[in-house]
Amino acid sequence: MADNFYNEVLLDHNLHPQHLHELPCATCSHAGLNPSCGDEITLHLQIRNGMVETGSYTGVGCAISQASADIMLDLIIGRSKEDALHLAELFKKMIAGEITDDELDELEEAGALQNISKMPARVKCAVLAWKTLELLLHENG
Ligand code: ZN
Repeated sequence: MADNFYNEVLLDHNLHPQHLHELPCATCSHAGLNPSCGDEITLHLQIRNGMVETGSYTGVGCAISQASADIMLDLIIGRSKEDALHLAELFKKMIAGEITDDELDELEEAGALQNISKMPARVKCAVLAWKTLELLLHENG
């Protein structure tokens, strides 16, 4: 039951990505690469006054990397950079299998990727967008 729900969340983000497009108003972009799978995602954000005003991603990748990017953008748009980095930290904790239930709630739909922690070959796909986010925010702090 739970697994079906998670699969539906991932499938929905693959079939109907909300954030897969160019972003002419972006103030910063960062490319991320996962050579082991061939995922190439570029993250684009518009940051003003320390807030992620809007964002998108472009590129190609497997279903997990793309769904993870789309879900991440849903979560971080409208938040402060500090909140976005906090969520990235929680996401990595989840993938490492070290997250608490309360922290998992904070991740909302991104919790759909929790089972990836049991699939080592796909971990890099799931964290690609989040690692790219961290690099982008650290370079544009
Ligand atoms: Zn992948």
